[in-house]
Amino acid sequence: MNLIKPTRLLLLGAPGSGKGTISKRLLDNFKQLKSIASGDVLRSQISQKTSIGLKAESYLKSGSLVPDSIMINLITNQLQNQNLLHSNSNWLLDGFPRTFNQAKELNHVLDENQSNLNLVIELNVDQNIILKRIESRYVHLPSGRIYNLDYNPPKVPFKDDITGEPLTKREDDTAEVFSKRLIKYNEEIQPMRQYFQKLGIWHEVSGNTSDIIYPKVEKLVISDI
Ligand code: ATP
Ligand code: MG
Repeated sequence: MNLIKPTRLLLLGAPGSGKGTISKRLLDNFKQLKSIASGDVLRSQISQKTSIGLKAESYLKSGSLVPDSIMINLITNQLQNQNLLHSNSNWLLDGFPRTFNQAKELNHVLDENQSNLNLVIELNVDQNIILKRIESRYVHLPSGRIYNLDYNPPKVPFKDDITGEPLTKREDDTAEVFSKRLIKYNEEIQPMRQYFQKLGIWHEVSGNTSDIIYPKVEKLVISDI
């Protein structure tokens, strides 16, 4: 499908709510879209042992947020380097901004470059369901592809479908660290939600599987054009 009007989308949602899965389906269906997933960017910095990676590692391990100043620089640099800061760009963000302060700072940069967000979608999934499914989540770290042993298993056990490389468990996907991430999310989301509601671009979609949620997201993306 083609996007007629520039689409700049922010996906919000609790950890494990399916942002990565929804992003992948959007990228498959709308070839003009590019995506930046802050968690994937950080995990890549960590595996390359860059100075940002070294600073960020302990925050990810413990499930706390990386400081705003690091995140704002990291993601605006990504937008810049991928040539996404102009009025015709199409992209989606997953995982950033996730604090009110990040949202304001990002908005400022986007404003200066005539490339404002025009759609924010919050994925609303029952948090008890999220907690149940997180322990069976596996990822292919280099690509960010996500599998679930129960309902979205890889074709070959513990191997990535595309590259055949091994899948790993994220260190922060343990019950303990995960519930900490969930609590943090619930704290941070309220002011962000208000901020984007005021801007008139916030929408919410509910459902307990990505198959239920995806068509609703796609409808919003299309209706925005
Ligand atoms: P999921 O990927 O399961 O939806 P999530 O949204 O918590 O969950 P990621 O987005 O991959 O996971 O983020 C993993 C970790 O990376 C966070 O717990 C945090 O430590 C760090 N991180 C990612 N994005 C940000 C951000 N915008 N600000 C601060 N820390 C971040
Ligand atoms: Mg994710």
